[in-house]
Amino acid sequence: VQKCYLSGPVKESDLEVVVSDTVQLALPPGSTAVIVKNLYISIDPWNFSMKKDASTSPLSVITGYGVAKVVVSRYKDFRAGDLVLGITGWEEYSLISDPNSLIKINYPDLPLSYYTGILGMPGMTAYIGFYEICAPKKGEFVFVSAASGAVGQLVGQFAKLTGCYVVGSASSAEKVNLLKEKFGFDDAFNYKKEQDLNAALKRCFPEGIDIYFENVGGAMLDAVLLNMRHSGRIAACGMISQYNLEKHEGVHNLLNIITRKLRMEGFFVSDHFSKYRKFEEMVARHLKSGKITYVEDIAEGLESAPTAFVGLFKGKNVGKQLVVIARE
Ligand code: NDP
Repeated sequence: VQKCYLSGPVKESDLEVVVSDTVQLALPPGSTAVIVKNLYISIDPWNFSMKKDASTSPLSVITGYGVAKVVVSRYKDFRAGDLVLGITGWEEYSLISDPNSLIKINYPDLPLSYYTGILGMPGMTAYIGFYEICAPKKGEFVFVSAASGAVGQLVGQFAKLTGCYVVGSASSAEKVNLLKEKFGFDDAFNYKKEQDLNAALKRCFPEGIDIYFENVGGAMLDAVLLNMRHSGRIAACGMISQYNLEKHEGVHNLLNIITRKLRMEGFFVSDHFSKYRKFEEMVARHLKSGKITYVEDIAEGLESAPTAFVGLFKGKNVGKQLVVIARE
């Protein structure tokens, strides 16, 4: 799947599925690269950043996180047959010239697709954002937006494991139900059905919010700022409501950051992969014991990637969105 020229809100015609007859499955002597067969690709809002270089490099294969099998290796740490997680391409086979960036999968007994989500980059995002940026304490009040998605569903479950009270927002009755019944959120609301987000948050948090895990930005952030408690923390993980706008919306209630002594901190998960093994062990253990659960939204075949990607910005995905290219 290649990117074409992008302008305005992302649409399916911004991506193109191209069929190529030839696949080069050999590496020259002296190379330290590997060739992988892509099995599952992670469809992430992050792939939107392709927009930035669209005018300078139209028609190049989209890169993103995925789960793959090594088929040819000239790199010391990998052998044919190894299962890996890392940045590959939205294509059947990828040449990885910097194999050092790939991570070997330690729990092949869990579903491999989980390594695009709960055991992959989105899971790490929830882990770093919640435990390190939010520094949660038992009994605190936590709010998560885009709560049923890849990152949000795990943040909510981490909050429950920590002994917090957690509320999530999502865009449909089905998602709200998932939050309460499947992921164990204490409460949840459909933000599209609320006339007044400030009132909805006051209803859910009569005593205010200690921690806001920010995934959407815009009007939700503005309303949250009116409901934060003193010394509250906001992990600025993402602001998906703004990505498709040519001009970003203003935030009106920022003064509350000063008057309530709040800390708002942005982060890139890519800066934290040195902690991956600790995260992987913890989440795998909780998945196996049933303390953590997971919902994914699986699309079949590379040709479904453009629709799956555009769907993220319309809330079409229920759980983590991924695409299966091959199962082995
Ligand atoms: P999700 O699985 O949550 O999918 C995106 C969801 O965003 C949609 O399902 C929809 O949920 C919601 N959404 C879409 N458009 C809007 C809108 N206009 N207003 C409000 N909500 C909207 O995605 P991820 O879990 O992968 O990502 C969540 C956030 O985390 C994103 O902002 C992403 O950019 C960010 N992120 C940041 C990283 C970092 O390193 N800082 C790394 C990874 C992700 P609903 O139907 O409930 O509205």
